Amino acid sequence: MKCSKDGEFTKGELSPFGNIQLSPSAGVLNYGQGVYEGTKAYRKDNGKLLLFRPDQNAIRMQIGAERMLMPSPSVDQFVDAVKQIASANKRWVPPPGKGSLYIRPLLMGSGPVLGLAPAPEYTFIVYASPVGNYFKEGIAALNLFVEEEYVRAAPGGAGGVKSITNYAPVLKALSRAKSRGFSDILYLDAVKKKYLEEASSCNVFVVKGRTISTPATNGTILEGITRKSVMEIASDQGYKVVEKAVHVDEVIDADEVFCTGTAVGVAPVGTITYKDKRVEYETGDESVCQKLRSVLVGIKTGTIEDTKGWVSCIN
Ligand code: PMP
Repeated sequence: MKCSKDGEFTKGELSPFGNIQLSPSAGVLNYGQGVYEGTKAYRKDNGKLLLFRPDQNAIRMQIGAERMLMPSPSVDQFVDAVKQIASANKRWVPPPGKGSLYIRPLLMGSGPVLGLAPAPEYTFIVYASPVGNYFKEGIAALNLFVEEEYVRAAPGGAGGVKSITNYAPVLKALSRAKSRGFSDILYLDAVKKKYLEEASSCNVFVVKGRTISTPATNGTILEGITRKSVMEIASDQGYKVVEKAVHVDEVIDADEVFCTGTAVGVAPVGTITYKDKRVEYETGDESVCQKLRSVLVGIKTGTIEDTKGWVSCIN
């Protein structure tokens, strides 16, 4: 779909996956004017496809577009496009339990612009690819490294939205951590470097007794759709769920730590390395993380009844 600066998005069309043409001076290429989303379609035993809260992705894209001074598709336009892509790629969706169809909606300033200014034209694209399960065998615990040199986002920046500009800056820190054997990084706040933010592409939760804490979204943390859903499931199960500034010492002292995101689902953290300390956490079948994970996965894949109206079914 395309639209000019203040206009409506035109009706989109389905086309085979392939390259797109952009002006070398497209706003997205030169100034990073772009936001994206990520969601997954799962195949149910009866062959139907399930999407998890696509309206939430649409709303988050609208908030991101506003931050990056872009027009955005309506919630209906967004959800229709995602459903059309899922449906058109139905044959590529792996069987139940074997993976999902990852769907990537992308909104960008595609028109040419030389000086620093919003692009004169915007393009909204949705593409998809089958993906396997995040954990190939069973569920492996993540080993995280607390990053003290690089930050992911600073107050007043675009860390709270899914801007494409947030991701290239984490590549260096992430690849360094991976080369040292860590699964991902835990970022600290940019000002005091004492409060937990999130990992490179997932949110983080800390469990102590029956209390589950997660960093409050204050403009530097992406408000994950999985995060929001897990908070609701945890409250339903009687846990005390708290959004607040989480000090790194609380992480070290926690019973459990887990991460949430479209890619990882709800993933246990086995170890965290902070300065010269390596702390181990509870990750077994009885852990809070595993209990929340089984409910979320069940709702997403249709094996647990969706009493919340979170799942959309595509025939
Ligand atoms: N934080 C960041 C930086 C992310 O890129 C993602 C992935 N979208 C998340 C958190 C988790 O968000 P969600 O649960 O909506 O996938």
